Amino acid sequence: MNKVEIQPYHIAKRYKCNLCDRLEKVEKRLVIWQQSQVVGDLLLCSPCLEVILKIIEGEQQVIEEWNFKGGEE
Ligand SMILES: [Zn+2]
Repeated sequence: MNKVEIQPYHIAKRYKCNLCDRLEKVEKRLVIWQQSQVVGDLLLCSPCLEVILKIIEGEQQVIEEWNFKGGEE
């Protein structure tokens, strides 16, 4: 089963958001699990994280899908 987990950082750092490419203060990361293994993680700025969470909760429609590369660059 796939699941996503939100992991808060102890100290927020500025990262390039994985979705919108803006350099933003990132306070949390999204970790994607498949069975008991981590298959990828995303560093998201607050607005993007909010949207992603809404998609996960089914409140927002997915207009584009993409494949994760299993955590590799
Ligand atoms: Zn973003």
